[in-house]
This record gives sequence, C-alpha cells and structure tokens, in this order.
Amino acid sequence: MSATILDGKLLAAAVRAEVRDGVAAFVKEHGRAPGLEVVLVGEDPASQIYTRNKEKAAAEVGIRGKLHVLPADTTEAALMTMLERLNADETVDGILVQLPLPRQIREQKVLDAIRPDKDVDGFHPMNVGMLASGRPALVPCTPRGSMKLVALAGRRLEGARAVVVGRSNIVGKPMAQLLLAAHATVTMAHSRTADLAAVCREADVLVVAVGKAELVRGGWVKPGAVVIDVGMNRIDVLGAAPDAKKTKLVGDVMFDEAKEVASAITPVPGGVGPMTIACLLENTLIAAQARTAARTTRSGS
Ligand code: NAP
Repeated sequence: MSATILDGKLLAAAVRAEVRDGVAAFVKEHGRAPGLEVVLVGEDPASQIYTRNKEKAAAEVGIRGKLHVLPADTTEAALMTMLERLNADETVDGILVQLPLPRQIREQKVLDAIRPDKDVDGFHPMNVGMLASGRPALVPCTPRGSMKLVALAGRRLEGARAVVVGRSNIVGKPMAQLLLAAHATVTMAHSRTADLAAVCREADVLVVAVGKAELVRGGWVKPGAVVIDVGMNRIDVLGAAPDAKKTKLVGDVMFDEAKEVASAITPVPGGVGPMTIACLLENTLIAAQARTAARTTRSGS
C-alpha cells in the first residue's frame, strides 16, 4: 500500500494563515507590525532566491520584512556594525543572516552576535542551549517545520524509535532534541555510522538530512514508518539531451521506493521546504510577542 503524502505546501499555508491572524492582533495591540531583517552578503544565486522568498513571504502575512544585500567583499567588522544597529533597533524583532557567508567573515562570530531574543533562525548558542535543556526557545525553522509534519502524520512520538540521519547544527542536532523532548527514543546517525541501512530500519520515525540524492532506499525503511525527507538535491534528468541541461530537485530518500513501505512520507519538493519559511514567519511573530511581553513586565515592575 502506498504511503500518505505529507503535503508541506498545504500545512505551510495553514501555518501562514495562523501567523497572519497573530500579526493582525499584534498590530492592533502595539500599533506596528513585527519586523524581520534579512541580511545577505554576496551574490550566491541560491541565497538570493531564498532571501527574496523570505522577504516576500513576510510581506504576505503582514510582517515588515526587509532584505539588506551587502557586497561580497563586506568585512566582518562592517557586518558586525550592522548587526549592532539591528540589535538595538526596537522595531526589529527578528534578524537572520543568510548562510553561507563569504570566507573573510567568521560564521560563528556573526551568529553569536545576533541578540538571542531576535535570533529567529535559532542558531545562537543561548537558543541552542535552551533547546538542549528543554526550555522554551527560538527553535531552528527546518526542524520545527519537520516536527509539524510528523504531527500531521498522526504519529505518537512517546515511546517511538526515531532515527535522525545527519548531525548538522541547523537540522540534525536540533531535530534530535525536539524528538527527544517529545519522548521518542532517538538515534543520531551520520557519515561514520556503521550499517546505516540497519539503523534506519529500526526507525518508526525516520528523518533524513544529509544532502546526498536518494541515499535512503526503500529497503532501509521500516514498514509503516513516517519518513521526513529534509534533503534538497538538484540532479541531472537521465535521458535528457546533454545540451538540454535538464535538472530536477530530489530528496535524500528514494521517494518512489520508500512510499511503498512507509505509512507517511514527505515529497521533495513540497514537503519540508515550504514549512521552513512558514516557521521562520512563526518564529518572527513569537519573537515579537516575547520581546513586547518582556518589555511590559520590565516597565510594570
Ligand atoms: P550538512 O551540514 O552538510 O550536514 C550533512 C550531514 O549528513 C552531516 O552530519 C554528515 O555527517 C551527514 N552525512 C553526509 N553523508 C552521509 C552519508 N553518506 N551517510 C550518512 N550521513 C551522511 O547538511 P544540512 O545543512 O544539515 O542539510 C542537509 C540537507 O538538507 C541538504 O540537502 C540541504 O539542502 C537540506 N536542507 C533543506 C532545508 C529545507 O528547508 N528543506 C533546510 C536546510 C537544509 P558528518 O557529520 O559525519 O559529516
């Protein structure tokens, strides 16, 4: 039997509609829209598309989104000065610096410089630590969206075996933390894991964030498992004329095989991808609400 396809586009639309309502209420109460500032350094074509999409998606839900495009030779000091200004600006609720950054800029230094309460990507060490210690925090958008897709599948996580393949700071590690917080028994796998196929076959919930096209085969999936495919890989279309340069987007899971074994699976595209931006908007609203609540508490005490 073929798996239920977890429609990330549809779920993301529902999340965005909720955020739109929350933003309208915020505007009514505070007389201004939540503000999201996105900083792009350089001309990486993929990053240009991602950041423009983020700015556009913000506007669609009523968030004041602003994209700053800085030249590729921007110095670390200049970027830090800009972040200081955004950190201090009370009308800015969320700050996001698009990765990767050019070589002359140290990524960790930049991520550490963003105020934790404006860190809508959830990459600041304070938010990472808060998540690891099971306290409310700004949670990275892709794992946050992936958890909503697991919930959409209706899978009870308490007592379930979850396997996360990939241990990056932006996807794999926070995803494992969220599954653990939801009482799953979590295994993290990576490039040095022995017999990855056998490890994957133990998973009631299998999350794959590796960046290797169609690595996970149908035979690696436990019958009835929920499969969340985070991977986004552009590959050449077989059979296309060499000069046609036809490509397509695929995940880290061999979808056609896995869907015959899993009970529910995310497609690529249209699965995790749309959820990431929706959760960025949600994080911006959460940050705006938390910051204004903190100010009210301070001024009231
Ligand atoms: P990353 O930082 O490159 O990390 C990849 C992880 O996969 C590493 O932990 C690596 O292990 C592991 N890995 C590599 N080859 C492996 C193999 N053959 N077997 C098992 N594990 C292997 O990647 P990322 O930033 O987490 O992104 C992963 C994928 O998700 C990419 O395709 C990316 O485009 C996609 N992505 C999608 C979204 C979205 O919104 N849909 C968002 C973010 C990322 P080691 O640690 O041992 O090297």
